[in-house]
Amino acid sequence: MLRMLLTMLLAAAISQGYTQQTVFRGKVVFQDDVIKAGSIVFPLTKKTLEVPETGLVNIDLREPGQRIFFFSDIMGRNSRMLRFLEGIAPDTLTVILAADKDFYAPFIRGRRCPVCLSEKNVVPIVYGFPGRQSFADARAGRILLGGCIMSPEKLYCKKDEFSF
Ligand SMILES: [Zn+2]
Repeated sequence: MLRMLLTMLLAAAISQGYTQQTVFRGKVVFQDDVIKAGSIVFPLTKKTLEVPETGLVNIDLREPGQRIFFFSDIMGRNSRMLRFLEGIAPDTLTVILAADKDFYAPFIRGRRCPVCLSEKNVVPIVYGFPGRQSFADARAGRILLGGCIMSPEKLYCKKDEFSF
């Protein structure tokens, strides 16, 4: 019985060793042929990594600041948020859809930040020319002024400086 258990544990350890790694390998798949440019953004460190036209990216997950990231094209359209908090990724090429609005819909509905997964620092984005009340709300950190050009983003996390 014990021997069987040990064999099973060993098999599990070996298969895990073969199927996970500390480097994330991904390929950005551009939905729109006109735009084939953008960067990987690391919201924890605010650093970015330019993505070549091939769309292929390697990200070292041993660096804790690189364990949450997304792709943003030059129009500011985002892929889904990728999270590897354990520092390990699957040993396969992960497809990253260049723009993934569907991913953010439940976060908008739940007013929950896709980076910190919390509602605590999330405020609405108010578009258009702000009146006195909006200026006061923005100064107090209750809203973010989005400017006069409407974007699809509706909410903003003050902690992560992320719009979604
Ligand atoms: Zn957040």
